[in-house]
Amino acid sequence: MGRVYNFSAGPAVLPEEVLREAADEMMDYRGSGMSVMEMSHRSKVFDNIIKEAEQDLRDLMNIPDNYKVLFLQGGASQQFAAIPMNLMKNGVADYIVTGQWAKKAWQEASKYGKAVKVASSEDKTFSYIPDCSDLPIDEDADYVYICENNTIYGTKFKTLPNTKGKTLVADVSSCFLSEPVDVEKYGVIYGGVQKNVGPAGVVILIIREDLITDDVLEGTPTMLKYKTHADKDSLYNTPPCYGIYICGKVFKWLKKQGGLEAMKDYNEKKAKLLYDFLDESKLFKGTVVKEDRSLMNVPFVTGDKDLDAKFVAEATEAGFVNLKGHRTVGGMRASIYNAMPIEGVEKLVAFMREFEKNNA
Ligand SMILES: *Cc1c(COP(=O)(O)O)cnc(C)c1O
Repeated sequence: MGRVYNFSAGPAVLPEEVLREAADEMMDYRGSGMSVMEMSHRSKVFDNIIKEAEQDLRDLMNIPDNYKVLFLQGGASQQFAAIPMNLMKNGVADYIVTGQWAKKAWQEASKYGKAVKVASSEDKTFSYIPDCSDLPIDEDADYVYICENNTIYGTKFKTLPNTKGKTLVADVSSCFLSEPVDVEKYGVIYGGVQKNVGPAGVVILIIREDLITDDVLEGTPTMLKYKTHADKDSLYNTPPCYGIYICGKVFKWLKKQGGLEAMKDYNEKKAKLLYDFLDESKLFKGTVVKEDRSLMNVPFVTGDKDLDAKFVAEATEAGFVNLKGHRTVGGMRASIYNAMPIEGVEKLVAFMREFEKNNA
């Protein structure tokens, strides 16, 4: 059996070209006589890999010089604690709760200080993004936190919240590098790479330098302190070397595709195919407010649990895999990240059309 169309929310599809290249270099990375998995993180060869990866990311995102790029571990979830530990100088932070990941971040932050839920869309099962143009931002809030793209529910902030001058912190795990961003609007941008960038095990954190200090909450573990990693260019301890190497390849692939502007166009084209079909379909329908639709994660339902299950089973059989919705929401979800080719979406839509005809 060949490769399938993998609509997994994460870990997720990677560019085939990247996987092939990694396969070619598996036994002997460019004359080093070893795999990247086997080499010292202090070696010259690896130093080039991590430096080049960082530079390519900086080029792609146009990251200003006063921002550090950190390659970390522990998943996005570990940042739910690290962020308040590093940034809650006044002990207050405002959270916009637009899904389970934002909610988890808010709950975790509550352990370390006053985490205020200033807006939420939980009243309608997170099917929309609340109006964030004039929120009751706390005067002494150290930061305002968002989850920019809600992987489970399929919503995305199309405009950033008005933070009233406070530092914006964003979890971009599932929309990382899917379109251009204005880094300067954020204090911290971070994400687990296993959704849209690379293999699980790497978290990339882009942070404005003035936010990296020794003034962290008492008891903050050395490994969770941003300064620890910033001072050592992500080489304080052994970083996730192989994962960083693959991320670097993905960055090069993205540059070759034309960068983030080109990715945005491509992603919009892909998402439109699917959303247009959902809007015209009599069987399938999208589950979120149109204006807030994610380009990356597209949840949909038939309205009938058994039919949903039948669809997922038949789709899997046909080579469209991992379409089952998140266990907490049910239905279906197609994650159509950067590396999902447009043919995959076209074929999925054709398959859905056929399924609709056969189940009318
Ligand atoms: C998957 C996901 C997480 C959790 O990531 P881990 O790396 O598993 O901790 C957090 N936030 C968002 C938006 C996600 O999609």
